[in-house]
Amino acid sequence: MENQHFDYIVIGGGSGGYAAARTARESKKQVAIIDSASELGGLCILRGCMPSKTLIYSAEVLHLAQKGKTFGLDIPHAKSDMPTLHQRKLNIIQEFAEYRQEQLLSDRFTLFRSRARFIDPNTIQLDDGTRLSADHFMIATGSVVSVPPVQGLNEVPYWTSDEVLELDFMPEKVIMLGGGIVACELAQFLRRIGSEVIQIQRSPHILKEMSPQAASVIEQAFTDEGIQLYTDTQLQSVSHSENRFTVTFIHQGETLEVAAPHLINALGRQPATDGLGLEAAGIQTRMSGHIDCDEMQRTSNPKVYACGDVAGPHEIVHVAIMQGETAAKHATLRPSDPVDYDSLLGVVFTDPQIGAVGLNELQLKARGIDYISAEYPFDDHGKSILMEAKYGYVKVFADRQGTVLGAECVSKDAGELTHAMAVAVTLKANVRDLLKVHWYHPTLSEIWSYPLEDIADELSET
Ligand SMILES: Cc1cc2nc3c(=O)[nH]c(=O)nc-3n(C[C@H](O)[C@H](O)[C@H](O)COP(=O)(O)OP(=O)(O)OC[C@H]3O[C@@H](n4cnc5c(N)ncnc54)[C@H](O)[C@@H]3O)c2cc1C
Repeated sequence: MENQHFDYIVIGGGSGGYAAARTARESKKQVAIIDSASELGGLCILRGCMPSKTLIYSAEVLHLAQKGKTFGLDIPHAKSDMPTLHQRKLNIIQEFAEYRQEQLLSDRFTLFRSRARFIDPNTIQLDDGTRLSADHFMIATGSVVSVPPVQGLNEVPYWTSDEVLELDFMPEKVIMLGGGIVACELAQFLRRIGSEVIQIQRSPHILKEMSPQAASVIEQAFTDEGIQLYTDTQLQSVSHSENRFTVTFIHQGETLEVAAPHLINALGRQPATDGLGLEAAGIQTRMSGHIDCDEMQRTSNPKVYACGDVAGPHEIVHVAIMQGETAAKHATLRPSDPVDYDSLLGVVFTDPQIGAVGLNELQLKARGIDYISAEYPFDDHGKSILMEAKYGYVKVFADRQGTVLGAECVSKDAGELTHAMAVAVTLKANVRDLLKVHWYHPTLSEIWSYPLEDIADELSET
């Protein structure tokens, strides 16, 4: 069979893959996208960011309504209406997905609905035997749920985030395995719509990618809302009989057993590389299973790049997009910068949320940077007090010249608030310049001016 040749071929039409295809198409005519999904759109739109944030926002509105009395309101029967909640999510996601599908199906690209597999370093083969070659390839196949070796886990009908996002009823009681971002966001969602939630996490703190200080605030909020949270545990086994799951684990030296009609495996995801024929293409992977890339996202095969969840090191959408753009510009010989992970922005959509940008305290210490930090709590801030949003704090890290290197925010809408410091970190702003900003009163954002002032004071004393 004759090969079809393209300038650029992208495997996987999700956030990273589409960004790469769109960027390559700016300077190349023959761009193909291959995607094997029955529904196009990618994880973020179909089963990730957008459906989860739609549901989480509804749960937040419900939570506020249930606290009506605190605000001097009489809201008698605030409770979830799961079929309507589910339908609203479907409508919203359908619109996002249709928009992405239109882009993928446009005549700017040649779209193949198939799995793709490398058969040699220059050629891929589709399910129907079609062979395609290209000047450059992009692998953007994303990630799949992983199943760690916990006795019995592989044999039981657990749910993943996919099933939680499709719920049209309120599960009475669930066991959530895991304490990562997805696990925490969905545990609080379920609790707020009315489920009894038991959450089991291996590490001493949930959200181990965030600082222990930030994680402790979320742990407190979860406990206050009635989530039964166990940290620092060792999972022993999982079993299922008569519609009940039983989980056995060790906690503080004791063997405990919990049971519930539903079990959610949110123990993590792994790069989707199965069946891609990486070996045939001479593409190496790291210990984590991610495709090994240089800073321009090029793999060990110089014709092939990778981006997004399959490449890591941070499985978040804007990183997938930035990597895709960097890689496609590099492949098409245009100026491009590597993704700057020193100004990485991360958000956790629990309530309170966490926003973290730039270098954290561990990284600052590990790099031997002489830094100053200052923080301020939300329970002593005008706007958060009147909003009854008193959990959390803001914290800023700067070097001895006053350049902001990192910041952390745990609060209501921390994801929004942290963008002010994302601009500061990315543009290497100085605390003294940031104090010239018109910090509007009363806003949650003006709280940043307090640690900035403290750092400026400390700098002027030295
Ligand atoms: C519940 C949940 C909530 C999340 N919330 C957030 C959030 O709030 N913010 C955030 O930044 N991130 C969030 N994420 C992570 C985010 O969704 C991912 O990082 C991002 O979508 C990954 O994009 P991608 O392009 O790498 O992969 P994907 O979007 O998964 O795209 C991969 C595509 O490749 C296709 N494919 C796979 N293998 C093959 C093959 N062999 N041949 C052809 N096609 C193939 C698939 O069909 C798919 O369309 C969340 C994830 C989950 C699970």
